[in-house]
Amino acid sequence: MQASKDSVERSLNKKQLELIDFARLISPVAQDCLEPMGQQAQTLTRQRFGKVIRLFAPLYLSNECINNCSYCGFSRDNSILRVTLSIDEMVTEARALAEQGFRNILLVTGEHPRFVSECYLRDCVKALHKFIPGISLEIGPMETEGYQPLAAAGAEGLVVYQETYDRPVYSEMHTAGPKKDFNWRLTTPERAYEAGFRRLGIGALLGLGDWRWEALCVAAHAQWLLKHCWKAQLTISTPRLRPCAGEFEPLVNVSDTELVQLTCALRLLLPDTGIALSTREPAHLRNGLMSLGITHMSAGSHTEPGGYTGAGREKLHHTKRGQIIALAEHSSEWATGQFDIADERSPEEVANQISRAGYEPVWKDWDSALTA
Ligand code: SF4
Repeated sequence: MQASKDSVERSLNKKQLELIDFARLISPVAQDCLEPMGQQAQTLTRQRFGKVIRLFAPLYLSNECINNCSYCGFSRDNSILRVTLSIDEMVTEARALAEQGFRNILLVTGEHPRFVSECYLRDCVKALHKFIPGISLEIGPMETEGYQPLAAAGAEGLVVYQETYDRPVYSEMHTAGPKKDFNWRLTTPERAYEAGFRRLGIGALLGLGDWRWEALCVAAHAQWLLKHCWKAQLTISTPRLRPCAGEFEPLVNVSDTELVQLTCALRLLLPDTGIALSTREPAHLRNGLMSLGITHMSAGSHTEPGGYTGAGREKLHHTKRGQIIALAEHSSEWATGQFDIADERSPEEVANQISRAGYEPVWKDWDSALTA
């Protein structure tokens, strides 16, 4: 969209923004207004969320997948080292994270019913809930009935990124597997809400479609969910593509400045929505963004199953058409990660940086603490 500097300033002066204002704030001309946008985003975030950053860690359960997503290291056609953690191995990983301070864990898996069944996921949640109060899931989309036992076992959050809201690009990127179904994925947060999840995470993977179009769609999707799933707490994420197995190259580039602009604009449009920032972004950028609207950050992340302790390494294998192919000889390697992280600081270093910036790092979410 073409916006004028005047129209950007008018939008910035409004008390309550609409989608058209958001479109202006992410327009190229609005980059000249980044400073007032940043100040407003900072003030609004402090008013609505306080001076805190909530920390969480992803725990990868499995890198098996039946889908081919061109941009993902876990794609079924990639010849990578795969493994699915047992419940005990998952607990070992989670205890290592708990020792580092984490009380909010995001369980992540590829999508492969043969290795990652609904019962397995329920048992993981049950075992984890004994010592971790904040559990969210980033798993293959399910029916409402599939989600219900997971919510009942103690999972409260469901994260599902649409990846791209551009249907032709979506078709091009998802060449095999159930993820090809755009609509099924798009309606996932509603099914999770119906099943009892009270934290929903959505987002677009930046680097696939035009980022301004993706941002507009994420914002519209968020507004719709806020209206229809109003009991849930919503969090948005706008991860940028990172290197991974398969060596996919981003189709579009999103600069650091554009990511800052997008974060500020999201905050101004959606004052009460959480914004998560992962270790995909480098330390210097995360340090700068943390005072401009970010509410949740991961830290010290590993994107491979067993990445925190080496759990499951003796079971590494390849997988072809759902069949396990044993390795010819013992491997001293670790399972393959989903993507390379950029911020390699330890959780303690990230927490110290948050404190130095004048914010409080929160390891245990307030809401969970109140209901635990
Ligand atoms: S993005 Fe998800 S569904 Fe696609 S290959 Fe990776 S793990 Fe599988």
